[in-house]
Amino acid sequence: MGVFEAIGTETHEEVLFGADHRSGLRTIIAIHDTSLGPALGGTRFYPYRDEAEALEDVLRLAKGMTLKSAAAGLDLGGGKAVIIGDPAEIWSEDLIRSYGRTIDSLGGRYVTAEDVGTTVEDMVLISQETPWVSGLPLECGGSGDPSPATARGVIAAFRAIGERLWGSADLQGRRVAIQGVGKVGMDLVRRLTESGAETIVTDPNSEAVMFAVETYGSKAVALDDIYDIECDVFSPCALGASLNANTIPRLACAAVAGSANNQLATDDDIAGIVERGILYAPDFVVNAGGVINIAVETDGYSQERAATMVDRIYDNVTAVFETADHDGVNPQIAALRFAQARIDQAEGRRVRSRSAQR
Ligand code: NAD
Repeated sequence: MGVFEAIGTETHEEVLFGADHRSGLRTIIAIHDTSLGPALGGTRFYPYRDEAEALEDVLRLAKGMTLKSAAAGLDLGGGKAVIIGDPAEIWSEDLIRSYGRTIDSLGGRYVTAEDVGTTVEDMVLISQETPWVSGLPLECGGSGDPSPATARGVIAAFRAIGERLWGSADLQGRRVAIQGVGKVGMDLVRRLTESGAETIVTDPNSEAVMFAVETYGSKAVALDDIYDIECDVFSPCALGASLNANTIPRLACAAVAGSANNQLATDDDIAGIVERGILYAPDFVVNAGGVINIAVETDGYSQERAATMVDRIYDNVTAVFETADHDGVNPQIAALRFAQARIDQAEGRRVRSRSAQR
């Protein structure tokens, strides 16, 4: 599929393909929408099967960032980037710096950050080539690894779910099944354990699973068994599309909320979740902690201010559930409406100020 065809039904503003044959860099940067501000979104370094798969992923993820920042009340647009390849095999300083120069060529329309397969150290290398990078370490004046803030935001969502379903935001005694104990998932396990909740985990990385079992007393299950676990909340914290026609009928949870982007394989999958009486907290509202943390960098980073802002995810998730009730729609549609209204307002302001200048 060609790029114009791929973005034909969407509203992406720009897609940049970059290659550096010397270092082996192959990257795609997608800018979805800059109505609210520069397009912020992380860089995913991943061994995609082919270019088409990478393009599909980056377009979906970029759009997700627009919605996420809008729903979180931030003045930021949405973008995302992918580097094609396995970082364990092709990572080099040359490759990352060359990628930094590719970002620089966009002149600030796209601002990058960390995502699956990239690290804070990569962001420092990128900062040597361009100012358009966020999530730098605290000692470099940045906000550091966004993952703990993302996990904090997921906890806020769990509390909103608890209040809604059981009349209590207390997580003591809750049972949470976590798919993926990487940077976010593991910190979520830590926070849940500290709050007295029980955790069931799975991950292809057996060392990470072992760490969760030994450090936090988590119960480990095989990769495919996580869907069948009877629990209060099923929390997808690995890659996207894990909620699909095969997995939704198996879920044995009261609610779904996690950090993974694009958890629903198709737009129709929300119907399957709602029909089963499962409460779904939309991913882009739940997992905004990282981007909120990064946005705080703009006015001089403060961990306390960031934490206060991230905790508002409780209010955002609650507002989505209330809008869903009020409008008689599912939570996914309610969240999309909420985010789109902010984007439309910004677009309206721009049109009005352009006409006033004429
Ligand atoms: P990560 O790479 O550190 O962790 C992902 C984990 O998922 C890894 O441990 C991996 O082994 C595991 N995994 C892969 N396939 C799996 C499977 N089939 N079943 C179970 N586990 C599997 O990434 P992360 O930073 O923890 O992010 C996790 C998810 O949250 C991603 O979708 C990411 O886009 C999203 N997210 C992350 C942040 C952040 O601040 N890091 C912010 C917003 C959204």
